[in-house]
Amino acid sequence: MSIAKPASISATAALSAAARSASGAATQASLRERNLALVLTQVASSESPTSRADVAALTGLTRSTVSRLVDELVAAALVDEGDPVTGGQRGRPAVPLRPASGTLVGLGLEVNVWHVAASVVDLRGQSVSNRIVEGDFVDSDPARVLAQLAQVGIACLEEARAALPQLSLAGVQLALPGLVDGATLLRAPNLGWHDLQPLPPIRQALAAAGWDPGGYLWTANEADCAALTVLQGSRHDDLLYVSGEVGIGSAAIVGGQVMTGRHGWAGELGHVCVNDGGPLCGCGSHGCLEVYAGRRAILEKAGVDSLDALVAALRSGDARALGAVESAGHALAIAVSAALNLLDLPRVVLGGHLAVVFDWLRPTLTSELNSRVLSAPFSPPEVSAVSLDPAPAAVGAALAVRQRVLAAPASWMPARG
Ligand SMILES: [Zn+2]
Repeated sequence: MSIAKPASISATAALSAAARSASGAATQASLRERNLALVLTQVASSESPTSRADVAALTGLTRSTVSRLVDELVAAALVDEGDPVTGGQRGRPAVPLRPASGTLVGLGLEVNVWHVAASVVDLRGQSVSNRIVEGDFVDSDPARVLAQLAQVGIACLEEARAALPQLSLAGVQLALPGLVDGATLLRAPNLGWHDLQPLPPIRQALAAAGWDPGGYLWTANEADCAALTVLQGSRHDDLLYVSGEVGIGSAAIVGGQVMTGRHGWAGELGHVCVNDGGPLCGCGSHGCLEVYAGRRAILEKAGVDSLDALVAALRSGDARALGAVESAGHALAIAVSAALNLLDLPRVVLGGHLAVVFDWLRPTLTSELNSRVLSAPFSPPEVSAVSLDPAPAAVGAALAVRQRVLAAPASWMPARG
């Protein structure tokens, strides 16, 4: 059986145990859980294989505690030991440690307006398999789309298992282009979905195929998930990621963490008003950023039907296409400058179609940001584009499962007798 057996402690329980220990009422068990997380996170955050001595030095735990915890993590197949190398502390050979590969994996699933996608990522954060199926999911039937998505996920897992026969499923995260509250999708305007429980059909389909994730399923906003892929490939810990799809989402990354807000609803840059009295948006309001800078809006204004056609028109100097991108850049600058003035973020990273047209977008965007952001004369915001995986939210959702394992590994380890 290739499914991880959930241990007796849920992720929530492990986190609350960690919280209790932080408040001073630590039990021996919660202390162990917190220290396991500390050690595994340290091993995972090291750019090169690290040693027990390094982990002890960096975490402040004693060498013997680290050794015991590492032994547990190795036994649970969460950490791999390499061959000992000489030159370690006091001349003793050091055993290099890395997160295990080919054992525990996260499955990320994504529904977007023009595709569904799945991605399997291991504990090292490496993609094991990816699948994407194009379609038109505007005003779609959720039951049909979720059934299709589950099959894409199963195919992705089967492909991963063919390469890594020992793998176990740590959990599943579903990325959706809308507002999510716990396990409920409140609304996804561009899909036409609202008040929906998307996880039960996914769980049932996975279980029927032998991939029962137990209670280890979560939902999240797609831009927040995609931002994790940006973070993984970036040297910077503070930035605003703006994801250009049919709609526009964003995620503020502060100190290396996606700032999701009180309910997880932060980052709806696409629905920031840039023109009171502008066209009606799918959200029911008027003049939102995405009616000017969303993919559909730009293509319509440019008079073309695909991104490739838009780029060709821009390259040929077509005035209508250039005007469409310039007005998108103007609208984007209004919304982004508001975010930068509010949040004091030093850089902006554009993804999706905004990255594809970045060369033409950049002049308007940078010059307007420099005039609209109050601190720009002292520190002009850096603007760049990132070329991501075709379905970054699926990859990011799988990375989010990995983060959950790193934060509470005891939940994926056998209960101690
Ligand atoms: Zn709107």
